[in-house]
Amino acid sequence: MPEPSVPATAAPPLGCLAIVGLGLIGSSIARGARRYGLAERIVAIDADATVRERVRDLGLADHVTDDAAEGGAQADLVILCVPVGAIGPVVAEMAPRLRAGAVVSDVGSVKASVVAAVGPHLPASVAFVPGHPVAGTEYSGPDAGFSTLFSGRWCILTPPEGTDEAAVERVRALWQGLGAVVETMTPEHHDLVLAITSHVPHLIAYNIVGTAADLEAVTESEVMKFSAGGFRDFTRIASSDPTMWRDIFLTNREAVLEMLGRFNEDLSALTRAIRWGDGEALHRLFTRTRAIRRGIVAQGQETAEVDFGRGRAGGGEP
Ligand code: NAP
Repeated sequence: MPEPSVPATAAPPLGCLAIVGLGLIGSSIARGARRYGLAERIVAIDADATVRERVRDLGLADHVTDDAAEGGAQADLVILCVPVGAIGPVVAEMAPRLRAGAVVSDVGSVKASVVAAVGPHLPASVAFVPGHPVAGTEYSGPDAGFSTLFSGRWCILTPPEGTDEAAVERVRALWQGLGAVVETMTPEHHDLVLAITSHVPHLIAYNIVGTAADLEAVTESEVMKFSAGGFRDFTRIASSDPTMWRDIFLTNREAVLEMLGRFNEDLSALTRAIRWGDGEALHRLFTRTRAIRRGIVAQGQETAEVDFGRGRAGGGEP
């Protein structure tokens, strides 16, 4: 895992960093920015009074407020870490008081809908550089965050064509400072890739855990008692934040539906192979999928430990 690229002794590359939404992702950014000296000043903005109190207790920011416009007015870089559906309204609130030359970014798990929601609100003097760190856990809230969450993980930036290169660099430097490896692509391509690598797998997990819970012939206590490794891993994913995942499926509808179409066709082929006893087809597929797993481990995005690295923090998605 690459270490963050900014040594703690260097002058902070950023003046004021404002983080909106101090949950798992926002509080991890705040912790990392502090630990690696990435900003002179951190402003924390959150709508939830309990979260604000916790952020103060944990000392994650220099200034804590529920007023997005006031907090954002001080920032050189604003990172929006609220659920995807809240990003547009928060930007609308902040926009009139943002400084000329400020940069706004986000961490939303869907990109095309965020670009569409933010674009109309920002003045020309403020650049928007959408982002998505492909790192996380199934936990939420300010206590769930940790400074190394992004270390060695990908962060995808999807700047619209013509975005000021200096603005992109400001956001890239933050993520590299947090230890992430940055890649850029279009919002549409991001949404398609994440639909199959993250969104559909979560939907499958929500569905299989729901199906098991609804089975009349199997009691809920049996589901818990006899849950083998495979099902247990699904329950981990299916315990992810309901608001966040509702917003992801509502805003990445087209890409998810396209990938679900493909998934259903492949599932039908597997069903047929089982029905007709086509062991060769099953073995062929399972051999291919095993190679993909090994490729992910080889790229350092997962560990080959027996517990899949779940014992270590930060092994999750999306
Ligand atoms: P989280 O732990 O639930 O934190 C979100 C925080 O934002 C909460 O404190 C929430 O307050 C606050 N909030 C909600 N609406 C707000 C508003 N209008 N104004 C100010 N604060 C508001 O969520 P998270 O897991 O960090 O996810 C945040 C974002 O990161 C989402 O867009 C998600 O798609 C993206 N993301 C998540 C992961 C992951 O693994 N979790 C990974 C990559 C990207 P309440 O407690 O009152 O709701």
